[in-house]
Amino acid sequence: RVEPVCPVARPCGGCQLQMLDYAEQLRFKEKKIAGNLQRIGGMTEIPLEPIVGMENPFRYRNKAQFPIGQDRNGKLITGFYAGRTHQIMENRNCYLGVEQNEEILNRILAWMEENGVPAYNEETGKGLVRHVLIRFGFMTKEIMVCLVVNGKKLPAEEKLIKSMTELEGMTSITLSANRERTNVIMGKEIVNLYGPGYITDNIGNVTYQISPLSFYQVNPVQTEKLYGTALEYAGLTGNETVWDLYCGIGTISLFLAQNAKKVYGVEIVPQAIEDARRNAALNHITNAEFFTGKAEEVLPEQYAKNKVYADVIVVDPPRKGCDQVCLDTILKMAPKRVVYVSCDSSTLARDLRYLADGGYEVEKVRCCDMFGQSCHVETVVFLSKH
Ligand code: SAH
Repeated sequence: RVEPVCPVARPCGGCQLQMLDYAEQLRFKEKKIAGNLQRIGGMTEIPLEPIVGMENPFRYRNKAQFPIGQDRNGKLITGFYAGRTHQIMENRNCYLGVEQNEEILNRILAWMEENGVPAYNEETGKGLVRHVLIRFGFMTKEIMVCLVVNGKKLPAEEKLIKSMTELEGMTSITLSANRERTNVIMGKEIVNLYGPGYITDNIGNVTYQISPLSFYQVNPVQTEKLYGTALEYAGLTGNETVWDLYCGIGTISLFLAQNAKKVYGVEIVPQAIEDARRNAALNHITNAEFFTGKAEEVLPEQYAKNKVYADVIVVDPPRKGCDQVCLDTILKMAPKRVVYVSCDSSTLARDLRYLADGGYEVEKVRCCDMFGQSCHVETVVFLSKH
């Protein structure tokens, strides 16, 4: 047991493990993965490689989403929801995020106060500013700010832009219109206020453009190690055809394309696919092709229509794991290798069981800690066809 660095570590919903020594956090995560693979996956021998921990388990996040609200006295506040509630706990200096977040929030709240811009109220559905999304490119130092608003326009917009652009690295300022009464943070529409609508960042030697709606790994330092593991497990020699399912903005696809004959990416969010195509062009990668749609629809359709082939299939699904139709198609396509990147070890265990029953062997499992202080952990698994 250690003293948490953050004064609100206990009530805040973000960090579950800050009172635990970091080396012990890593052991906790390894045990959690192994336990799920045994209990849910029915695996007896787990080929677990040593967990890849972080050198500095603080200030590692490149993305933060701050809810904006009012306290009992009507004062504007921002911070994080207290665990299991929607009550905002004032905190502008989260130790997982970058130091720049604090000044950005100070300026946005000052602008709101000075111009009478109201915070959104979840209970009444009235008010304007709901959330502030901030992204920071660790390699490029570019900053993106996106205000999620219950409306389409901002009052005193130019004053906000002036205040934001005084900050070093400010590259993109956007609005996301979200008028729904929902817990979903981002709206579907993005309005550009300043800059190109995206920021740029690098992972390894690949450059990526990231827009407000696209998924991008939050821990860039560990992401490079995670993708390095995926690349190692994919065992590419340059002649392979690879399918990268749940590809987001093509991060893994473009990483692998440098060592493969052809990479096909599939992703459900159309904006992410636009980014993926742009990212491929930006990096002069011509052997990557992208499909918009659900993995469990695109892959079976392509297999039925075009008898598509794969040497390696990489999947990196959201927490709910892969759809069974997707797994069935993987079994039919029978690639020599499957690389499963997972952010939820219980659905991973379920899906590994299914692939194992379909003729695959789990060869290697490596955990990578992308989320120090939280109980989450990323896992990469290499499966090979019997
Ligand atoms: N591999 C990427 C993204 C992984 S996150 C990276 O490392 O950056 C999971 C992605 O799956 C998200 O981009 C999400 O939009 C997408 N997704 C969710 N459900 C999907 C589905 N049914 N079919 C395809 N993509 C899906």
